[in-house]
Amino acid sequence: MKKIDRLYILFVLCCAFIFQLNAQERRCSFDAPNITTEHQQKRQMTEIEDLEILQVRVVFHVVYQDGVQNISDEQIFSQLRVLNHDYQKTNSDSVNIPEIFKPLAANCKLQFVLAQQDELGIPSNGITRTQTTHGPFGNNDIHFTELGGKDAWNTEKYLNIWICNLAPGVLGYATPPGTAKEEDGVVIHYENIGTLGSAKIPYEGGRTLTHEVGHYLGLQHIWGTRGGCDDDDGIEDTPIQADAIYDCSESKFSCGSQDMVQNFMNLAEDDCLNFFTKGQATVMRSVLLNERQGVIDTSSLVLSINKGSFAGSLSVVPLRGQKTRYEIKGLENSSIKSIAVFSQSGTNLLSRYLLGVKSSQKLEIDLEGYPEGIYFIQVATREKIYTKRILHLL
Ligand SMILES: [Zn+2]
Repeated sequence: MKKIDRLYILFVLCCAFIFQLNAQERRCSFDAPNITTEHQQKRQMTEIEDLEILQVRVVFHVVYQDGVQNISDEQIFSQLRVLNHDYQKTNSDSVNIPEIFKPLAANCKLQFVLAQQDELGIPSNGITRTQTTHGPFGNNDIHFTELGGKDAWNTEKYLNIWICNLAPGVLGYATPPGTAKEEDGVVIHYENIGTLGSAKIPYEGGRTLTHEVGHYLGLQHIWGTRGGCDDDDGIEDTPIQADAIYDCSESKFSCGSQDMVQNFMNLAEDDCLNFFTKGQATVMRSVLLNERQGVIDTSSLVLSINKGSFAGSLSVVPLRGQKTRYEIKGLENSSIKSIAVFSQSGTNLLSRYLLGVKSSQKLEIDLEGYPEGIYFIQVATREKIYTKRILHLL
């Protein structure tokens, strides 16, 4: 009897220890997006190569109890630098990507920029600060001002990133596409943001946000949701992996292949993680251009009318029998980035980002709802910006 008791006590102690270890090392709590493998594979048909950099509009909400938690602007800037390096494969530690995975490593061509205006159009530096009396956040209170957190800015237009004191053991978490608007975005513990100030070893490299933004853009963990060799993340160029990996062993194998320990969607410490794959990049860009299109900052894609160069070759021709529709012709052979409509005074009335459209394809624009008058149609390709003045008559 005594022996059984001791065994029981040992078992309980052992479990408590493992739980504590896991809790300490747990990078994120994440609900897998409701995306089927088939859906993800379809997305991968879009090639990542040769695409333009997409800019994502970001707002950081610092929710703090004291001065330590009220992290500096510089700490947030240090985080943005990491994020942009990681998503453009300019991170200095990309030289450490194992040889076997180097051909798969991707420049995701995503850039994260601080919002310059809030949702009401008031100029902002893209950082809000809210003092709270709320203790460590373990639920969704962080998303609501009246519960001691901070209301999101319009989540259809901004990637919202909350920085706060999270419950022990969680470094951060993110919501997948399709989440309720008020709670959509990323939450990061103030000790795991950026590379200076309150950032604590071994999660002081800014990789928690890199990982969580991957979830926000539709990625799962490398091992899928359940783990085991019959579960996967739905992405072809990441190997099947049996379970989460926390340590940084160079060559670890499971399910018959070398594990991609250094992938940002694994759970090793910050200085171990260093790349996304091309398949992951394609999924993230596809999510951005479809489910999350509103957070793309198109200002870099469509230049102001005054900066546009007038290209004589462009023609905008009314379609026969269609009062409001025009065909755009005369572009040199290229990929189109965007199309925009400006008023005579130069106000941007419409901007559309076009993915993978070739200038050789039939391109139309519909001005239904626009009053009669003079408009400028602007088409940006990879090389040039074309602008054409038209007289729109009903
Ligand atoms: Zn995760």
